[in-house]
Amino acid sequence: MGPATTGILDDLAAGLTGGRLVVAEASLEAYRHDFVPDPDAGRPLAAALVTSVEEVRHCLRWATRHRVPMVPRGAGTGLSGGATAVDGCLVLVLDAMTAISIDPTARVATVEPGALNIAVKEAAAAHGLHYPPDPGSFRISTIGGNIATNAGGLCCVKYGVTAAYVLGLDIVLADGRLLELGGSTIKDVAGLPLLPLFVGSEGTLGVVVGARLRLVPQPPPAATVVAVFSTTRAAGEAVVAIGRTCTPSLLELLDNRTINNVEDYRPSGLDRTAGALLIAQSDARGAAAAAEAETIAELCRAAGADEVHVSDDPEEGEALVEVRRMTGPAVEVRGALLPEDVGVPVDRLPDLLTAIEAVAAELDVEIPVVAHAGDGNVHPTIVYDPADVAMVARARVAFERILALALELDGTITGEHGVGRAKRSALAAQVGDDVLEVSRGIKAVLDPLGLLNPGVLL
Ligand SMILES: Cc1cc2nc3c(=O)[nH]c(=O)nc-3n(C[C@H](O)[C@H](O)[C@H](O)COP(=O)(O)OP(=O)(O)OC[C@H]3O[C@@H](n4cnc5c(N)ncnc54)[C@H](O)[C@@H]3O)c2cc1C
Repeated sequence: MGPATTGILDDLAAGLTGGRLVVAEASLEAYRHDFVPDPDAGRPLAAALVTSVEEVRHCLRWATRHRVPMVPRGAGTGLSGGATAVDGCLVLVLDAMTAISIDPTARVATVEPGALNIAVKEAAAAHGLHYPPDPGSFRISTIGGNIATNAGGLCCVKYGVTAAYVLGLDIVLADGRLLELGGSTIKDVAGLPLLPLFVGSEGTLGVVVGARLRLVPQPPPAATVVAVFSTTRAAGEAVVAIGRTCTPSLLELLDNRTINNVEDYRPSGLDRTAGALLIAQSDARGAAAAAEAETIAELCRAAGADEVHVSDDPEEGEALVEVRRMTGPAVEVRGALLPEDVGVPVDRLPDLLTAIEAVAAELDVEIPVVAHAGDGNVHPTIVYDPADVAMVARARVAFERILALALELDGTITGEHGVGRAKRSALAAQVGDDVLEVSRGIKAVLDPLGLLNPGVLL
């Protein structure tokens, strides 16, 4: 680092009164990647660990003055390279801004961006309220990251994704201006709807520095159904039938490869020979939960389930959901990963699951699948050995093939993880050139120098 760089960094550090600046190369390593190590990740100039809105504004003004690219970062649990560094960037680390306050009467949580999703849930629960969006990473991901990716999760099949809960946002633009969008009202149509533009914008339009989130009453304990199928297609067909008749609060699918990963990782009594497992829950009020669980069980039997188990014991239900959550760590230990999260209209789910199996067989790569099945949102994770050059090439082909498959089935290249850097080249095929051009025009208004998260999404 030359004297000129040191000079401008001193200027940056001077505005961080509560926060601090990280410049040592070894320490910066922790801010280069999101959850999926990227061999092409850049080397940041510095990371600013900010603690207040004023510090964020200072950093963005500084970066604009010196034409330094910025990468906003929450907890770095993203799976699409959205928080991956570019060379010479400033990583803006927001995970120390964690304040949460609850207004139980208005049913609104006012939250700083670095608060963990679980912390918002716990703060709401202390008032008998609930913040529904529950990405599998809810214990480790931040609300700012959840908003920037419009995170989904397990209960979204009934309760909807993050966007459905964002009432108000405070956004700092690249030039340091602070926009206060929306408020605490449930309905608000004053002005152009700018707020939704920032939900899911992956840190490319502005930095989320505060949010007002809608809370709902705590749901009652759920009744749970587990069904074992000999094929993923049969399980997929059960999902289509359930969606036509019921409103499950969770409807997840594990394929055979995933079942075996879980059993290898932590034996949980799953049937290793099963083609697929469905886990469903109903949190309807009173006796309706048990009745809805019975209907789901009946629909699974009608779709050809070999075995169906229904439980109204909340502890057993939670243990089964934990098995679903274990699919992440269980696949992480198997090798290097290319995670995907394609989505299709629910009726195309059986076709997608079958087609992914065909890709895995044809290319001879391991592709365990878990799915937020009720949403038609499928997570095939391509597992490969980075030392095996031929396998790396096959894994890349499989990645592209699955993106194309989703589009052939009228679906999306990403249901919830975001485009990031990993899927950027496939976006045009989904949205078309006109949509891309308009999107870039909007970005140019909000970030005319293109400094916010360059190379992500657009
Ligand atoms: C085990 C596991 C399970 C997961 N399960 C799910 C799931 O079920 N559903 C789901 O949707 N995702 C899931 N994810 C992915 C990930 O956790 C989510 O994308 C999450 O929302 C990212 O939050 P984060 O705080 O880690 O953000 P980061 O990874 O730090 O950043 C993600 C993106 O948001 C931007 N960003 C972060 N903070 C801000 C901010 N304050 N302002 C502007 N931009 C910002 C970043 O630039 C980046 O583009 C999972 C990940 C793991 C590791």
